[in-house]
Amino acid sequence: MYDTIVIGAGQAGLATAFYLKKIKHNFLIIDKGKEVGESWMNRYDSLVLFTSRMYNALPGLTLEGEMQGFPTKNEIVQYLKRYVNKYELPIQFQTEVVKVQHQQGLFVIQTNQGVIQSKKVIVATGAFQSPRIPSFSSNISKDVFQIHSTQYKNPSQLKEGNVLVVGGGNSGAQIAVELSRERETHLAISKKITYLPLVIQKKSIFWWFDKLGILKVSTDSFLGKVIQKKGDPIFGYEMKDALKRKELTLNPRVINGIHNEVTFEDQTTIKVQNIIWATGFHSIYPWLKIDELFNADGKIIHHRGVTNVKGLYFIGLPWQHRRGSALLQGVGFDAEFIIKHLSNLTTQGKCD
Ligand SMILES: Cc1cc2nc3c(=O)[nH]c(=O)nc-3n(C[C@H](O)[C@H](O)[C@H](O)COP(=O)(O)OP(=O)(O)OC[C@H]3O[C@@H](n4cnc5c(N)ncnc54)[C@H](O)[C@@H]3O)c2cc1C
Repeated sequence: MYDTIVIGAGQAGLATAFYLKKIKHNFLIIDKGKEVGESWMNRYDSLVLFTSRMYNALPGLTLEGEMQGFPTKNEIVQYLKRYVNKYELPIQFQTEVVKVQHQQGLFVIQTNQGVIQSKKVIVATGAFQSPRIPSFSSNISKDVFQIHSTQYKNPSQLKEGNVLVVGGGNSGAQIAVELSRERETHLAISKKITYLPLVIQKKSIFWWFDKLGILKVSTDSFLGKVIQKKGDPIFGYEMKDALKRKELTLNPRVINGIHNEVTFEDQTTIKVQNIIWATGFHSIYPWLKIDELFNADGKIIHHRGVTNVKGLYFIGLPWQHRRGSALLQGVGFDAEFIIKHLSNLTTQGKCD
């Protein structure tokens, strides 16, 4: 039996494994995918990270290249593969977790490859697994090409005609700008957009965040709460420029859709041929059958990833402890914290 099973071999699982390896822990990472880096690989072709190379490293290995420059998604895939090789991290692929139960102090993990038992479990399955699409999308005509932003790769997937991108986060903005170069493009947003430059005086914005202490602001602090409430800015000015050139049209929030027509919050309508729902994700864990883990709203009860179920941890949650918790730059700090907690449990014998 393994002492610990880490579910998920993305950056969060790998950073955790780095610290488990350091304390010579008996563990295994399991992942439903076929290889390391799949989450990044599957994202849209033109994806360039908004965090500069210097802020894209996991503990123990820097990302090669110009430190203030911005890597492509493929660089991250290669980096994660190098990371696994360098630290010889044990991963079992093509193993999808379908149910986790907690029975007599042990975790019983049902997978498509059989049942695994462990004393502890670290959930590192990522915050972006279950795409969220409004239910009225099913009333829209089959003639309209509709996908979630997770399925978007490049403009060639779309049918002829205009496109509506719904959702003004960084993914929605990047996809809308790309499409606006080759067709009539609308972007529906639900709140006012704030732009921040990617680079100020030859330093990436994340360098400035770092120097100003913003990356260390914790979830519960006053500033942390303000930043969370405000939501993410759009990094870079490509979208602003596309709007100025009138290549891109901004529309309010979409409230309904029927046949090939969508209605916006201000009751205006447009006919569409393509829709990309960049409307975010649900954080749901239908396979975690441990009731005491969730509050009345279905949210996980935890402090910095340590849950109220002994031996069960989360890593990589947005704002798990601070802004960087779900980013490449910040996940290592949270991983170190939970592994310290886990090893204290082990040495005190509380979990064995
Ligand atoms: C479009 C986009 C752009 C982003 N840009 C940046 C950026 O510029 N900079 C930055 O720092 N961050 C960025 N992020 C955020 C974050 O860094 C990534 O989402 C990152 O992939 C999160 O890593 P993770 O390990 O938490 O989750 P993931 O990379 O999603 O890994 C989770 C792993 O868990 C596995 N898994 C899931 N469910 C199961 C199951 N039931 N059983 C077994 N395995 C399972 C999956 O196969 C996957 O390998 C971006 C995110 C998105 C969506």
